[in-house]
Amino acid sequence: MFKASAGVMLPTSIIGSLPRPGWYTANLGAQSFLEAMVNSRYREQYEDAVSAFLRMQETAGLDICTNGDAHYDEQVGGMSWQSYPLTHMDGFAATGRPAAYRVGAAAYPRGHILHDFLEARVLPGIEGPVGPGRLQYAAMWKVAQRLTQRPVKFGTILPELLAASVAYDKHYKDPVERTMALAEAINRELHELADAGCPVIQMEEPQIHMVPARGKAFGKLGETELVEVFNATVRGLRAKTEIWCHTCWGNPAQQRIFRDVQSYRPTLEALNKVDADAITFETCSSGPGDLEAIGQIITGKKVVIGVIDHHTLQVERPDQVADLIRAALKHIPAERLVISSDCGMGREGMSRRHAAYKMVAMVLGTNVLRKELGLPEAHSLAADARYSLTLTQPD
Ligand SMILES: [Zn+2]
Repeated sequence: MFKASAGVMLPTSIIGSLPRPGWYTANLGAQSFLEAMVNSRYREQYEDAVSAFLRMQETAGLDICTNGDAHYDEQVGGMSWQSYPLTHMDGFAATGRPAAYRVGAAAYPRGHILHDFLEARVLPGIEGPVGPGRLQYAAMWKVAQRLTQRPVKFGTILPELLAASVAYDKHYKDPVERTMALAEAINRELHELADAGCPVIQMEEPQIHMVPARGKAFGKLGETELVEVFNATVRGLRAKTEIWCHTCWGNPAQQRIFRDVQSYRPTLEALNKVDADAITFETCSSGPGDLEAIGQIITGKKVVIGVIDHHTLQVERPDQVADLIRAALKHIPAERLVISSDCGMGREGMSRRHAAYKMVAMVLGTNVLRKELGLPEAHSLAADARYSLTLTQPD
């Protein structure tokens, strides 16, 4: 059901992560979030970091906020996105070991930045039945939501990537059984999150669109099976809250994982079958070429377009953002269009200031279209000329 995006025309958001403040040195490690929050230094740094992330989004003028993925540790390439669930769910070994991983091994030999990411795969194996364990997503979401009146989105990685990341498996007979067990466990955790009041949950990176891009199934999982995995992971949730499906073409260390720009076209029919209220598409860094096909096929869900490139430091101009939204509106009605970044901006490499101004550009660009359509504009405090420190005299 629509909750966070209900009643707002052309709502703006980001996918999730933001660049970590340099002073935020606390890390969770294997501790649970609630255990770590007993430590006054961790609690202070964590709450201050979440607060800083929320203030950046509020002053930019975003409608839907995130906690900036502040719960993740500072790991190479943003590996914590994968390692956090594996080190906090039940059923896993207490210590990690270097995990062999075939996907990407040929494409990223030593000397490529993503080889560091492969080397950072020191992850635990499965020793017994998996369960939500100490994920504590509801607690993390509550810490963010009690710091802002705006709706806070909470995101999580999907089970197929987790199942492919384990060092070994002593319990499940094959990767498909392992993936479905993880789907069931994450589903239980997300019901708790929805019951706590989270107004939008984002499921991150189903490998559905990667199947045609790679020219082969994800292990034993083809597009049909990957849709089933997605739908099992979110079963029952749309009756409680809004569900987004996030897709992009890669983000470890802010890198695209393919050399060439990819297209969503071969996979849109399959993506349309996910049990979600909205699907996000990388349409800034990959260009607007898929918008027509997206508009033709994704007709029963909201479409979230990326207007901000998470790979580059060049801050988009509001008129560029407006042009992309205008192009999208030729194919997707305004009532179903949501504005976002292509992916998270916090997986190494971007400064907080770059991310902040990208968000401001997103809001100002969206305001251009809101004005054209006679819709209420968002106030971007960060762009309010009354508070400029420099008296400017245009020539
Ligand atoms: Zn992404």
